[in-house]
Amino acid sequence: MNSNYKNIIENAYNKAKSLKDKGQLATYIPELANVDPSMFGVHMTKVDGSNFGIGNYLIKFSIQSIAKVLSLTMAYSILGEKLWKRIDVEPSGTKFDSLLLLETYNGIPRNPFVNSGAIVICDVLVSHLDNAKEEFLEFVRDLSGLPELTYSDKIADSEKAYGYRNSALCNFIKSFGNIKNEPAEVLDFYFDMCSLEMNCQQLSYTFTFLANGGRKLVDGKKIISKSKCKRINALMLTCGFYDESGEFAFKVGLPGKSGVGGGIVALYPNNYTIAVWSPLLNPKGNSYKGMKLLEDVTTYSELSIF
Ligand code: GLN
Repeated sequence: MNSNYKNIIENAYNKAKSLKDKGQLATYIPELANVDPSMFGVHMTKVDGSNFGIGNYLIKFSIQSIAKVLSLTMAYSILGEKLWKRIDVEPSGTKFDSLLLLETYNGIPRNPFVNSGAIVICDVLVSHLDNAKEEFLEFVRDLSGLPELTYSDKIADSEKAYGYRNSALCNFIKSFGNIKNEPAEVLDFYFDMCSLEMNCQQLSYTFTFLANGGRKLVDGKKIISKSKCKRINALMLTCGFYDESGEFAFKVGLPGKSGVGGGIVALYPNNYTIAVWSPLLNPKGNSYKGMKLLEDVTTYSELSIF
């Protein structure tokens, strides 16, 4: 990787590392409260294959809501544009687990990245696959070229035991007829999907297809069409950070997605993907230091989509 990028990432990393972290761990999933809050890593992969990481970029973490982009990719490739009859493509302006707008919009979630939308995506996958848990994992292993990727049963079980809000969301949507399967089955898959683990290097590799027009970097295999790739990136830009999506676009200027495990992945089409992990979250549920680091990377590289 050219030394310019390395310097920018190194400087952004050192600057963010020295900040006093005002964030909090996502304790509502008890197992996530056991994560070492001082972990901090970043990894960039360029579409020319060069890559660079610093800090704890080889330590696995729970990618949580970042996995929603991958389940959307799978459901979108199965159902095509019909998917948007069940989920809208508008920013919600609400927290990731909010029930508020479901009443207003008759059980149609605002977008696929708030929990309600991701739960409907899981329902679609449960309807179309024989074994959604296994087939989704195979799909992710294939698109990333990383056969070693796995779920964390510990994290999934921990969330299943306390997933009251997600149960409420799923049952509420079911009452409008927008969940076709049994809520227990859909939620089980939703929690497994969120428990996917990756390190920053694996996460940045996994997302390269979205920086590469929908094709795998290594062999050019088509995962999704260019048009679907464009739309998924547009959704990440407008909805990837819940009620902080505007702030992320304003300060970082890239499509991206966060998770309550403290990970963020962002990408610059035809150029690079970058994954950062720092587990302490701001009040909107996004990694505090991760946001700061990415802001510096696009400011100093002068490479954002705007
Ligand atoms: N599994 C988490 C939940 O449903 C995902 C939320 C997130 O990462 N923002 O609450």
